[in-house]
Amino acid sequence: MKQREISKSDPYVPNDSKNLYVNMEGWRYKYKGPAAKKAILHHLEHWPQAQALAAEICDFYGNCLLYYEDSNLESSHYQINLKHDPIEFNHACVQLQLGTSRTAEALCHELLHLSTRMCGFPFGEKFFIPHDLIDYAATYMGFYPVIGNLVEHELIFEKFIDIGFDKRNFLGCISPPPDYKTLASTAVKSSFYRKEIGFPWWCLEYFRHWISIRHWIGYEPALYADCALFWGSKVHPSMKATTRNIRDLIESGVLTDRKQYHRHVNTLLELMKIPKFTEWTFIKSGKDSTPLVYRLAHKEKINPNGSNSHVLKTMGTTLKHGFQPISLSE
Ligand SMILES: [Zn+2]
Repeated sequence: MKQREISKSDPYVPNDSKNLYVNMEGWRYKYKGPAAKKAILHHLEHWPQAQALAAEICDFYGNCLLYYEDSNLESSHYQINLKHDPIEFNHACVQLQLGTSRTAEALCHELLHLSTRMCGFPFGEKFFIPHDLIDYAATYMGFYPVIGNLVEHELIFEKFIDIGFDKRNFLGCISPPPDYKTLASTAVKSSFYRKEIGFPWWCLEYFRHWISIRHWIGYEPALYADCALFWGSKVHPSMKATTRNIRDLIESGVLTDRKQYHRHVNTLLELMKIPKFTEWTFIKSGKDSTPLVYRLAHKEKINPNGSNSHVLKTMGTTLKHGFQPISLSE
């Protein structure tokens, strides 16, 4: 992996950072491979089940696991980074926020995200943005990691509880909603409002609150979800039917089917009118402590230069060929 020693000119470097490194995406890490495993297991010493699972996950990612802990972080995160052409595993990184009342829980939460890949769940790699929406490419790219994170909570929540952790410590906090009333009235009046990006945005606002009802103790997510749906429906009346379909999809439990996971996530993206993934990857353990990455062979594979142009037509002309940035918070 390309890396550089941290520079004193880096604005976020603490003074005692002799052994701190930054990867090419700007993620900090202090421990790598076996050292990362040791530091992680130390935090889980009072949770033997979590420790055993963590050891398995650390061994799976081997030398490609990077770890960083700091009380100055605003939350805990994980990231998986791939090289794309040819496809290769780059690294998995966990950043743990210290100084909270749920350090072990937050660490285990992030590790459980990494465990979904270890268990063979695929993850979206490539997508196409229709030509006429190219200006919103960055917004779409921001949607994918948020949706991926929320959907994965459906896969890891029960495991978190089985380990013995309290449900109320699964999430660190619920991020409050923006002023939906003002946003809705602005959207309705504005001639510049683009419903193509506005509809997915409202759907995702609803979705992030609604799905958190399932993973949180407290009234907030339900209240926020109702609010997002109420005001979102003023702008997009079809949102009521769409959100019903989204709820049905998640509540059916199909997402836990590893072999069909990619199809169901694409269905969710289609419901939200977000371009679906055209390539999916999965990881297997490899030699030399480096996981191996494979692309999923699937019948709906879209090749812009190939013979599947009938699929492309349903999505419009596609110029933007993107990779999912997998970098997730909580
Ligand atoms: Zn999470």
